[in-house]
Amino acid sequence: MSDKFETLAVRTQTERTQFDEHATPLYLTSSFVFQDAEDMRASFAEERDKNLYSRFSNPNTTEFVNKIVAMEKAEAGYAFATGMGAVFSTFAALLNAGDHIVSSRSVFGSTHSLFTKYFPKWNIETSYFKVDELDTLEQLIQPNTKILYAESPTNPAVDVLDLELLGKLAKKHNLLLVIDNCFATPYLQNPIDFGADLVIHSATKLIDGQGRVLGGVTVGRADLIREIYLFARNTGPALSPFNAWVLSKSLETLSLRVEKHCQNALAVAKYLEGHPAVKKVKYPFLPSHPAYDIAKKQMRFGGSIVAFEIEGGIDAGRKFLNNIKMCSLSANLGDTRTIVTHPASTTHSKLSEADRLEVGITDGLVRCSVGLEHVEDVIDDLKQALDS
Ligand SMILES: *Cc1c(COP(=O)(O)O)cnc(C)c1O
Repeated sequence: MSDKFETLAVRTQTERTQFDEHATPLYLTSSFVFQDAEDMRASFAEERDKNLYSRFSNPNTTEFVNKIVAMEKAEAGYAFATGMGAVFSTFAALLNAGDHIVSSRSVFGSTHSLFTKYFPKWNIETSYFKVDELDTLEQLIQPNTKILYAESPTNPAVDVLDLELLGKLAKKHNLLLVIDNCFATPYLQNPIDFGADLVIHSATKLIDGQGRVLGGVTVGRADLIREIYLFARNTGPALSPFNAWVLSKSLETLSLRVEKHCQNALAVAKYLEGHPAVKKVKYPFLPSHPAYDIAKKQMRFGGSIVAFEIEGGIDAGRKFLNNIKMCSLSANLGDTRTIVTHPASTTHSKLSEADRLEVGITDGLVRCSVGLEHVEDVIDDLKQALDS
């Protein structure tokens, strides 16, 4: 088959049944049958490539995984019920007690909770580097360091990390580089090109793209995916075939949707830069972004998330949210509907102000996940909320 992204997204498909259906049907079955004792023995011994039980594999989840594998230029993958299922299982499968992680400080909230609250129970410690201080990262590496972990762009401050540099450092120190590529999607950025060993997605965000189902996936080196698969088939975080069917369909339009999200987001970012009530705008493809050159090097477009800071701190942020009319106040992102959040008073309110600043969350920071409404309507809503 062609190796072009759009063609892979549409034409990677489960083998047709005797009914010659055009689109892939839903395989809502928990288990599969065998011809005879020998077929069953050989299948369980993995001498035959057969589905046994949907906790292990299912035609719908396999199709979804095969698409992400192709899009990320990976060797293999496994799909999970949620993005966090993917993050947790990836670490849990590959780490032993006493191992050490070096991670970007700016990671998804629940990932941060794994590092601080749960992994220490198994004697797995994590050291953190700041997104703008990659030059200090090598000092954090210990003899027991096994994984180098990062997200780019980051949530919610939309910082961009140099994946090529991370790839070089991982190689030099013999670490596994694991990248959560959720904000970029496989359409905008392929971390494996820069040396990542594994790539994780929360499929709940732009991969579904319409705010319907949860899902997650890890793809990358076949030997590592084998370990992750064995862990997952015993511990049970498998993606449901129904959600896989929805997500595989969504991937057919990923490139179109993401490209439009990015066009709209760039227009919103440019508009906000000129608004007097806005102190600062952060968007990877604005020349004012501190890592603009890196973003241009590793991303196709700037992504769907714009972060901006309004004058007046926490109260101004809350007032802005109260004045929003069309856009949604919601915890999701990467939806067709534009979503605004105020991290300092919500998702990150439990952190001290100093800890918030460490990860780039100022009191007036607003995160806007720009959707697919007409961009003039999005800008009008943000404008009237800022003006009032
Ligand atoms: C949402 C998100 C996750 C977790 O995904 P779920 O599907 O909600 O479990 C992980 N990483 C990033 C960057 C996210 O945005």
